[in-house]
Amino acid sequence: MFVIWGSKGFVEDLGKTHLECECPNCHNWVTMQGIKMGRKFTLFFIPLFTTSSEHFIACPICMWREEVSIPKMESYLVRGAGKVIEE
Ligand SMILES: [Zn+2]
Repeated sequence: MFVIWGSKGFVEDLGKTHLECECPNCHNWVTMQGIKMGRKFTLFFIPLFTTSSEHFIACPICMWREEVSIPKMESYLVRGAGKVIEE
């Protein structure tokens, strides 16, 4: 018997933030999106747990993004639209 393990990247949409600003990249006035990107450890291609994750605010037009800390992300997110889960 052999074991197949690896890792898989994932992107999770955390929903809209109430951060309205001019995007530093495309200069459109946008509502930033909250996203979480990371990698999951997989066993037989089944994702088991998150090995690393980063939180970003992202421009929905050009996909420019900036990393933010978890407490900052929680304060940016529109209540009920999504939530930050630390795994
Ligand atoms: Zn942009």
